[in-house]
Amino acid sequence: MKTIEHRINGTAAGSGRAAPVYDPATGLQQAEVLLAGRSEVDSAVAAAGKAFESWATSSLSQRTRILFTFRELLVKHETDLAKIISAEHGKVIDDARGEIVRGREVVEYACGIADALKGGFSDQVSRDVDVLSFRQPLGVCAGITPFNFPVMVPFWMHPMAIATGNTFVLKPSERVPSASNLVAELYAEAGLPDGVFNVVHGDKAAVDAILGHPDIAAVSFVGSTPIAKYVHERATATGKRVQALGGAKNHAVVLPDADLEFAAGHLIAAAFGSAGQRCMAISVAVAVGEAADALVATLARKAREIKVGPGDDPASEMGPVITAAAKDRVENAIATAAAQGAIVVVDGRDLPVEGDGFFTGPSLIDHVRPSMDVYRDEVFGPVLAVVRAESLDDAIALINANPYGNGTALFTSSGEAARRFQREVRVGMIGVNVPIPVPMSYYSFGGWKDSLIGDSPIHGPEGVRFYTRPKVVTTRWPRVTQSVEAAFHFPTSS
Ligand code: NAD
Repeated sequence: MKTIEHRINGTAAGSGRAAPVYDPATGLQQAEVLLAGRSEVDSAVAAAGKAFESWATSSLSQRTRILFTFRELLVKHETDLAKIISAEHGKVIDDARGEIVRGREVVEYACGIADALKGGFSDQVSRDVDVLSFRQPLGVCAGITPFNFPVMVPFWMHPMAIATGNTFVLKPSERVPSASNLVAELYAEAGLPDGVFNVVHGDKAAVDAILGHPDIAAVSFVGSTPIAKYVHERATATGKRVQALGGAKNHAVVLPDADLEFAAGHLIAAAFGSAGQRCMAISVAVAVGEAADALVATLARKAREIKVGPGDDPASEMGPVITAAAKDRVENAIATAAAQGAIVVVDGRDLPVEGDGFFTGPSLIDHVRPSMDVYRDEVFGPVLAVVRAESLDDAIALINANPYGNGTALFTSSGEAARRFQREVRVGMIGVNVPIPVPMSYYSFGGWKDSLIGDSPIHGPEGVRFYTRPKVVTTRWPRVTQSVEAAFHFPTSS
């Protein structure tokens, strides 16, 4: 049985405890991953702290040269990475390639760090006085990431942290540990000095060691809302800068003037791609007015056509969910919805499954009301709930009353409706006829309300700000012959 080790200061490192890593398509254990405790986290932070001394003073050219090389290695190893993601997560290979491309785009943005980090300069703010501003790295930064994007979500963090001159300790999800170790090897091959990027695997013990560590300056977290709140509270209490992205309940509103076939096709892909295990998955379709019956019929037909199978089978469109517990949670949610009066139009529990893989089929549940558990909970599986609404105003009110505010989408042919929707909805990322509006790497990613704890979105310009802090310098270079009187009043311009 393969043992997945930590990667500290450029070398593999061991530790005491271990956890099983499953193949979700077979339900069988395929490896064990070592679980870090305080001492492994201490070693990684010490290595990162030592590396920071020289990395923080490396030139922008040196950093970008390494990042350009790293980007080329990511292209070269895309298939290797995609296979690793699919084997541990279960998503289909094409979907895994998609997340690698979106992660690589953050590296491409980071390759332009020389421009993104430019400071400001004001000439002659007072007689012979100039002001300049620039940003400096924070120190050792840590990332704690979820299972559902083994490559893309960590890439929202470490390329930005490293490009801005920080060093990094990544604690990936213990369910999908292997991709991060290959990423560490590729960074090393690209010429990144030892200790700049470290990987510690682990569970709550490793997370707690990170949150309490006095030598970690900033923590980036992506995962469920309860853990995001916990991480934010604990890490800010020890004086760290924190960005903490949480869970989601993303609504797609379909107006009667939308092209229903187009909307249904996109909704199906957004609800059931990656077995619904995306923070930007559409889990609620809001069918407005007379669109509802035709929309549900089209969704049902398309949901039944989805090919469910192992991620490495090119014929599969949707793979298994991550664990046996996740399968139980999803199937219980369907049973509860039915018991609470919703209509299960397509029942994923009917999927015939050979073997012990964690498969459950696509489920479509109609006549869902906001009081039902299937609406209130983040099911995080292949379940699409349909809520019927009278008008666009009702749909917007429903979305705004929801505690989450990650992503949302509107399907319509009306520019006026689209404009009103994007202005009034209290959600961070909005799509118009685009179901999964994940911002490009040169914007920033982040929801509102319980989908983002604290106030920092991730990557893009917000990422540059998060991983640096500003200095403003006021300078005066008087000619030696010139006399400048010191004054005791508070400085003002003259
Ligand atoms: P999770 O919250 O269970 O785990 C996330 C990380 O926290 C993992 O590294 C895990 O080891 C650690 N962790 C888990 N329990 C902990 C505990 N009690 N104490 C300390 N650390 C703990 O999330 P998950 O199941 O891996 O991922 C799915 C969740 O992530 C969903 O809620 C999804 O919406 C969310 N997510 C959000 C975004 C976003 O951008 N907002 C992106 C991806 C995933």
